[in-house]
Amino acid sequence: MNITDIIATTDGRGALKTKVVIIGAGPAGLTLALMLQKQGIECVIIENRSREYVENRVRAGLLEQNTVEVFEELGVAERLHKEGLVHHGCYIAYNGVVQRIDFQKHTQREVTIYGQQEVVKDLIQACLDRKIEILFEADATQINDFMSNEPSVSFTHLGQNNILHCDFVAGTDGFHGLGRKMLPKESYNEFKIEYPFSWLGILAYSKPSYDELIYAFHNNGFALASMRSEKVCRLYLQVPNDEKIDNWSDAKIWSELENRLEIELDKGEIFEKSITPMRSFMIDNLQAGRLFLAGDAAHIVPPTGAKGLNLAIADVRNLAKAIVEYYKNGSEESLKNYSEKCVARVWRVQDFSNFMTYLCHKQAENGSFEQLLQKSKFDYLRISEAYQKTIAENYVGLPYEAF
Ligand SMILES: Cc1cc2nc3c(=O)[nH]c(=O)nc-3n(C[C@H](O)[C@H](O)[C@H](O)COP(=O)(O)OP(=O)(O)OC[C@H]3O[C@@H](n4cnc5c(N)ncnc54)[C@H](O)[C@@H]3O)c2cc1C
Repeated sequence: MNITDIIATTDGRGALKTKVVIIGAGPAGLTLALMLQKQGIECVIIENRSREYVENRVRAGLLEQNTVEVFEELGVAERLHKEGLVHHGCYIAYNGVVQRIDFQKHTQREVTIYGQQEVVKDLIQACLDRKIEILFEADATQINDFMSNEPSVSFTHLGQNNILHCDFVAGTDGFHGLGRKMLPKESYNEFKIEYPFSWLGILAYSKPSYDELIYAFHNNGFALASMRSEKVCRLYLQVPNDEKIDNWSDAKIWSELENRLEIELDKGEIFEKSITPMRSFMIDNLQAGRLFLAGDAAHIVPPTGAKGLNLAIADVRNLAKAIVEYYKNGSEESLKNYSEKCVARVWRVQDFSNFMTYLCHKQAENGSFEQLLQKSKFDYLRISEAYQKTIAENYVGLPYEAF
């Protein structure tokens, strides 16, 4: 009998037990579950939203080769390879002067464009096919006794209160989740930057009139041309933090995108538009006792470097390895070092995301010292293979062995 059945038949009073409770069915939680299941370690995912909601939540869209290789190893990359778009470079422009960053030449690696919601659909299907229990619309409300070897998670499901006992709890429950709130405050330092601009993002049924992503600095502000498929474009405009979406008609959005990107766009139907603030956030400890955080629960990066989802996968790769080592040979060494191992990579990714954000966004008046320094970076980028390589190797994702 599985956990859903036990809850249904015992009014929530049955003794529920698994090895690892994973809070959150985002990319981090689902990938961790598949990694553990592959090694024969039982786990249960508790997710407070419905399956439909998480499968349609529009977020990231660019996968590092590292991430694609993780999905290949887990046997969940078939549709990704069929439908994803492989890119070997990207463009960085300054007021219409364009420099291509050649990933292939500088790193012999590539990235794949494939929407996060498609990743989540593939991961959920694989979990269900492999009999991994996912409790949707189950809200984790408390993580109990995680400083002991017998932690548990309290949650509500179908109107009932339940407790699920386990050996480990993975807090892969995103920025607003429960996991980070449970970590003792004195166990970590917190770092954050709120940027003075946001991204107005659209999804449109239109054919990309560009073959690779374009990051464009413009005197009116930053613009990014991206895509989700050969028929759907994802485009962004830098706007002030207090901007209202109602101020932007579809016609105004297309016109400003063409102005800043300095290309003609296929102006199809816009079917999604929203404004997202930009921030950098992290804590420098991801664990306490038997509770381990991963992904957005522990860090947020501004999307300019396209790193959020990829960093979440890097975390859970470390966490799965540590938990597997514990069950296979009783070693707690990797569990002890989990935070340290993740945080080194988080700092690298924070720096790159922050660098790309300051490089590409309009921050200072024309002719000011800051703006002229910024322009000088673009001038240097055009002549320096070394500068291009630095961007390329961070953008495609540094090898897991490095951090
Ligand atoms: C609006 C937006 C746009 C983004 N755009 C980009 C982008 O363009 N590029 C990029 O690289 N990154 C982007 N990101 C970041 C990227 O989407 C995240 O880094 C990624 O989703 C992290 O995965 P995760 O599994 O750690 O967290 P999440 O995907 O947030 O998953 C956490 C899950 O936990 C669940 N949960 C939370 N609390 C509880 C609870 N108490 N009980 C049970 N379940 C709970 C949530 O419902 C959610 O399903 C964006 C993020 C946002 C919010």
